[in-house]
Amino acid sequence: MEEWIEQLQNSVNTLEKLKEYINVTPQEEEGITTLNTQWGTTPYFASLMVRDDPNCPIRKQVVPSVKEKENRYGIPNYLIWKENRATDEIRPDSIARQYFDRIAFTVTDVCANYCRHCFRKELVVDRDLKLRMDVEEGLDWIREHEEIRDVLVTGGDPFILSDERIEYLIRKLREIPHIEMIRFGTRTPIVLPHRITQSLMKVLSKYHRVPLWVNTQCNHPNEITEKTAQAVYDLLSCGVNVGNQAVLLKGINDDVESFRKLHQKLLTVRIRPYYVFYCEPAPGIDHFRTPVEKGAELIRDALRGHTTGLAQPMYVIATNIGKIPLMPDYYLVDKNEKEYTLKNYKGEITTLPNIPD
Ligand SMILES: *Cc1c(COP(=O)(O)O)cnc(C)c1O
Ligand code: SF4
Repeated sequence: MEEWIEQLQNSVNTLEKLKEYINVTPQEEEGITTLNTQWGTTPYFASLMVRDDPNCPIRKQVVPSVKEKENRYGIPNYLIWKENRATDEIRPDSIARQYFDRIAFTVTDVCANYCRHCFRKELVVDRDLKLRMDVEEGLDWIREHEEIRDVLVTGGDPFILSDERIEYLIRKLREIPHIEMIRFGTRTPIVLPHRITQSLMKVLSKYHRVPLWVNTQCNHPNEITEKTAQAVYDLLSCGVNVGNQAVLLKGINDDVESFRKLHQKLLTVRIRPYYVFYCEPAPGIDHFRTPVEKGAELIRDALRGHTTGLAQPMYVIATNIGKIPLMPDYYLVDKNEKEYTLKNYKGEITTLPNIPD
């Protein structure tokens, strides 16, 4: 049997199995036994958890917490609001639209790791929202909408689908003349790097008119291993670009050191930071959320000037009207008819002439 399927079949999703990897605290045990939720991870990702540290950044993303029962700030029916499912435009359940030229295409609700902070929690983790993830219906809609240039295949995790299903999806999308690029959002390079097999590489490989892009989700430097490096290298060697979409998570990566190390370490395994998302106001994840300004402060204090521009993600808040950038704005201190006054990351000041229009 292929190793990645074995990993999925041996999912660490019971208290007994979890105890093989960590010393479970009474609070964690209460979360596991009292929440009615989908949870679990791969044996590989579980092995990266720190046995005796309840604050381990990986553990907090994996083990259900009683705090998920609290919901002061979450927006009810979050996905319906966020993905514009209550608008006049009639779309299949699988298509989420916020932009003119691109859409998110949800093809599965299965994941290798059920992230506790998932903004699709209602669909993927709590499973109280039922959507029809009919691929044919989605493909028909995309075929009929010639303004769509860019399809973002998402889930759940689309790389949990079989090689045959992935091959079929890519082939059908590439047959549509107006599709110029295909993106996959998958956490497999991080939580299940074994998924990038020789046979999947065959499916993704070769030069094509319509390129493939992968964006993964890595939130803490501890999630990056030699196996990640190999999986990313294999994807790149198929002509697939690999980016990262981190989520800003309280107590996990909202300190300067973890945030900087995360972005530096991503580059050491050839992953290009793309976005850092503000943790969305989905129900039951209040405990992961920071103030909105936090992400911009971290970019200012941990990244900009402190490390290469290649390590700079864009900090955005994902809303029902699209992603809104919230980058730090300390650079331009002053401007008059003669000159601009600019400030760098150390607080040093310089001036540049202002050229009239
Ligand atoms: C995030 C998202 C996209 C892609 O946005 P980019 O900024 O192009 O990466 C497209 N559609 C929906 C519904 C999204 O949530
Ligand atoms: S892999 Fe993505 S969709 Fe799946 S639980 Fe994690 S954040 Fe949610």
